[in-house]
Amino acid sequence: MTSPVDPPSPPFYVFVCNVCGSDQVTREAWAAWDVATQAWILNTAFDFAYCHRCLGYAQLDRLLLTSPPSGLPSRAPAFPPAPG
Ligand SMILES: [Zn+2]
Repeated sequence: MTSPVDPPSPPFYVFVCNVCGSDQVTREAWAAWDVATQAWILNTAFDFAYCHRCLGYAQLDRLLLTSPPSGLPSRAPAFPPAPG
């Protein structure tokens, strides 16, 4: 008899500023219009990163989380279409 087994969870990472440790960081990117979903979809992320705590260019460190985040992000489009 076998018992149901949860599928293995993927590794979860967080990107943080290597100066202040904040996860309030963003990357410069291009978004492309997706006709099927009628939304802007992330196309390319560039190396330039910005820390919203340091208010400037940032080098990012990728850290492995030891447990899944409490609120998993949705896979919703980054830029839903504007109304109208
Ligand atoms: Zn910072």
